[in-house]
Amino acid sequence: MYKCVKCGEIIKELPRSIRCPACAFKIFSKIRTPIARKVKAE
Ligand SMILES: [Zn+2]
Repeated sequence: MYKCVKCGEIIKELPRSIRCPACAFKIFSKIRTPIARKVKAE
């Protein structure tokens, strides 16, 4: 996943050329997908 460094818009995939749908900014930072796992403690 990628996050727009300007407005924080999150985009799942990053094609060759992409602009932020919200602000048209072209710089993104790669972020990890938060994985929530439920663990039972029994
Ligand atoms: Zn943006």
